[in-house]
Amino acid sequence: MRIGHGYDVHRLVPGRKLMLGGVEIPGELGTLGHSDGDAPLHALIDAMLGACAMGDIGKLFPDSDDAYLDIDSKILLKRAADLLRERGYEISNADVTIILQRPRLAPYIEDMRRAIALAAHVPTDRISVKATTEEKLGFTGSSEGVAAHAVVLMQEI
Ligand code: MG
Repeated sequence: MRIGHGYDVHRLVPGRKLMLGGVEIPGELGTLGHSDGDAPLHALIDAMLGACAMGDIGKLFPDSDDAYLDIDSKILLKRAADLLRERGYEISNADVTIILQRPRLAPYIEDMRRAIALAAHVPTDRISVKATTEEKLGFTGSSEGVAAHAVVLMQEI
C-alpha cells in the first residue's frame, strides 16, 4: 500500500463550464484552466501519482501541450489510472474534499463518485467525495476560486 495527497485550485470565471469531479454543474461561474479546470480530479490524479512517486499532473500532462486544451479531466484520470495499473497499482480508496462557496454540491456527490470510479476502473464504494465551504472566508469564500484536496491509498495488484 502507498498513500498520496493532492491539492489543486482553479479560478472561477464567467463563461466557463463548472466541472467538478467529472460532472458539469449548472452555475454562473465556471472553472478556468488549460484543461476543463476540474480541481478535484486534478487533486486526485496528483495524489495517485504522489503515492507512487511518479511526479505530478503537470509533468504527465503539461499545460504547454495543446493536446490537453479544454480536455475532459476524466480522460486524464483514466490515463493516469491506466499508467499506474501498468506499474502494478490501483486505487484501494480515495477521499476527495471540494471547497466551494456555492452552488451547494450535495445533489451532485453521487454522480461525481460514479464518474471517478468509472474513469479509474474501480468500484464506486472505493471513492468518497465530500464538499465544504470556508464560511465565506478567503478565495473560496468570495467565489474567486475552487480548491480541492485528495488523499488516496494505492494498492498493489
Ligand atoms: Mg488543475
